[in-house]
Amino acid sequence: MALFVQKFGGTSVGSLERIRAVAERVARRRRAGDDVIVVVSAMAGETDRLLGLGRSVAARPTERELDVLVSTGEQVTAALLAIQLGALGVQARSMLGHQAHIETDGAHTRARIRGIDGDALLAPVREGRVVVVAGFQGTSRSGDITTLGRGGSDTSAVAIAAATGAQVCEIYTDVDGIYTADPNVCPRARKVARISYEEMLELASLGAEVLQIRSVELAMKYSVRIHVRSSFEESEGTMVASEDESLESVVVAGVTSDKNAAKVTIRALPDRPGVVASVFEPLAEAGISVDMIIQNVSDAGRTDLTFTVCEDELLRAREAVDALLSSIGAEEVVVDSRVVKVSIVGLGMRSHAGVAARMFRLLADEGVNIQAISTSEIKTSCLVADKYRELAVRTLHDGFHLGD
Ligand code: ADP
Ligand code: ASP
Ligand code: MG
Repeated sequence: MALFVQKFGGTSVGSLERIRAVAERVARRRRAGDDVIVVVSAMAGETDRLLGLGRSVAARPTERELDVLVSTGEQVTAALLAIQLGALGVQARSMLGHQAHIETDGAHTRARIRGIDGDALLAPVREGRVVVVAGFQGTSRSGDITTLGRGGSDTSAVAIAAATGAQVCEIYTDVDGIYTADPNVCPRARKVARISYEEMLELASLGAEVLQIRSVELAMKYSVRIHVRSSFEESEGTMVASEDESLESVVVAGVTSDKNAAKVTIRALPDRPGVVASVFEPLAEAGISVDMIIQNVSDAGRTDLTFTVCEDELLRAREAVDALLSSIGAEEVVVDSRVVKVSIVGLGMRSHAGVAARMFRLLADEGVNIQAISTSEIKTSCLVADKYRELAVRTLHDGFHLGD
């Protein structure tokens, strides 16, 4: 008898009909003799609806109250699924974050899990029940409800799999696995049978929302095998596992894009030691992460500095830079949120030269101007105008023959 963690995302539990289909799937696994812990998301659109309600009351609700509000979405699904399982003759019990002792830090709306009481989850399982856990939520040491950031139910599921020693963490979603590019953007994208944690981590950090970044980090740390698959059909999906377990060692494993990027340019900055530090220190103090950075060659002792931040942090970044402008003696700040970061990812880039050059050529041949570049051992990213998003993804996907 094996223990499975099965996580169902928003679309998979988007209606009572879908919840029934999920219950039948769980029941089949249970009747086959396996133990199951289910983790559920809120019904599709519910988290956005709840956030909208909160923001219609006040422009900036406190994050503590937002967490109390949005965490209810998962509570509803957990109860509905447990009721539906009962109606199918499967003993089931719902559990909220505090009941499963999912302890987090106190960073409301983006909390990190500190610990989970595996025994609290396993006790009902040993009594023969299916446990249905509300994903996305936990409690801080002070007893407040916290949430784990958008897409956080993936992380709940992986953390629960690690804490209970489950055989595998199955992530059921609206696609049947991990593709070489988002199949909703790139029609020629191909499903891969396996992908390494490292590649999946890069893809997730660079915009592939199919798994929350933190869930991949945790899976890698605790060696949890993730099986991403469809809740709408039976086919095998994609295994996310360690490098030696992944069969395909390709130069480029996937292409992804991230719309949540914005560009800030500070013009005519004095080119002397300490100026760049005085720009980025206040941003760091404000908790704003900076991604790509370019500083141009100095012209008559002055230079332009460009960097990118997440679009939702653009206003705060601009405020921080505006406050500095006169003290550092720069001319002006220009911001642009109509940009997108397009990236290629692959373990094989470690050992192959010329991959970035080919990326630049493919984009150039389509007339796509590159506004900034960043690289790591296994990825290259280019910032381009957002109107080129789909063109850039498809061009790179097909140019690197990922669909073949
Ligand atoms: P869920 O609600 O089940 O958590 P998400 O919307 O968070 O589902 O994630 C699934 C979506 O991820 C897919 O519909 C797809 O558009 C998107 N996606 C982005 N990149 C990829 C990729 N490389 N492979 C598969 N899906 C991807
Ligand atoms: N319901 C939350 C969200 O929409 C968490 C999740 O679905 O994973 O972000
Ligand atoms: Mg998701």
